[in-house]
Amino acid sequence: MIYLDNSATTRVREEVIDEMLPYLSRSWGNPSSIHALGRESKEAVNDARQRVAALLNCDVDEIYFSSCGTLSNNAALLGRARFAEANGKGRHLITTQIEHPSVIGPCQYLEGLGWRVTYLPVNREGFVSLKELEKNTTAETSIISIMWANNEIGTVQDIASFAKFAKERNIFFHTDAVQSAGKLSIDLKVVPISALALSGHKFHAPKGIGILYVRKLQNIMPIIFGGGQEMGLLPGTEALSNIVAIGKAAELAGLEFEQNHEKLIVISKIFKQHLSQVDGLIFTGSSLLTHRLPGHISFVLPGVEGEAIVMRADLKGICISSGSACHQGIIEPSQVLKALGLSNEQAKGSVRLSASGYNTIEECTEAAVLLTNILNSMAHTASAQLSKNVMA
Ligand code: PLP
Repeated sequence: MIYLDNSATTRVREEVIDEMLPYLSRSWGNPSSIHALGRESKEAVNDARQRVAALLNCDVDEIYFSSCGTLSNNAALLGRARFAEANGKGRHLITTQIEHPSVIGPCQYLEGLGWRVTYLPVNREGFVSLKELEKNTTAETSIISIMWANNEIGTVQDIASFAKFAKERNIFFHTDAVQSAGKLSIDLKVVPISALALSGHKFHAPKGIGILYVRKLQNIMPIIFGGGQEMGLLPGTEALSNIVAIGKAAELAGLEFEQNHEKLIVISKIFKQHLSQVDGLIFTGSSLLTHRLPGHISFVLPGVEGEAIVMRADLKGICISSGSACHQGIIEPSQVLKALGLSNEQAKGSVRLSASGYNTIEECTEAAVLLTNILNSMAHTASAQLSKNVMA
């Protein structure tokens, strides 16, 4: 099997499993307990928090553990909205048309509460423009949320400029960085982001653990209520072994960043070079590799369904994914593809390949050759079908 669906989830690193297992079998105390077993657990939680803070170059007490990226995004947006309401700030939020549902969902919920939400358009390559952001910002704007890198099309936004723009106007700036950890350099001492979300399973920790970063003095209020864990912001007994795991995964992501980055850029080039030979294929997202997630290539093949491509690849042992899903027999292009301006016909053939540090250049080359053959044969069948229909 050649696994090229790392934007969906990643394999848990062996080093991560080794480090987390003792916290299930031996040191399984509650970090809030004051006895030895509890203290040992507390120490492990503190240690993991430090490792995550080191990856993001921020202070340790700016890191909160959550259960996933979805919860981190919800807690940041709804928590800041609560704070804005309690402090008489404006009820206008700006986001984009290409956000993940875990950002779109809370935005729609806020609309239901009477907030005005602006969904910024993107250009053909998925970029948000600073001009557009400026044009839509008003005295009522209290929250801006723009994702760092898009899961479907790999486009990486100019987050530093957007965060600076928000800071100059004293507006809370949140970014969904779930796809960015380990792939892009995140330096929170340099980029003035107010809040950021990460998810462990996207960088080789298990599912069920996420990170919420909140800059000091940038208040958000809790959206769930319970005990005092995670400074009362995300209460609930800590998922000890998962927290240890995300700490180790963060440490490895930092240590191996340069080496993985270089390899993933080579892999992107290999994918692009081979897939360019497919008749009619249109790459989606940024055309510049410097503005894409490394190791991530996405495209559409007009006339061919994305899910059909995924299934053909699967038969050859290659795991990839499609941005269009079949709902009750109707192929539905995603909101992201529609926002790029693709027609329904073009968008239904959308596919994404996403590599990680676990992939080798050799297996990616093999997958690129196999996929190019599959796509060429599917494209020819589709165009033969089309000319038959035209003649009939
Ligand atoms: N944001 C983006 C960009 C994602 O790709 C995902 C997961 O696919 C999420 C948020 C949600 O993360 P989680 O699966 O941890 O809830």
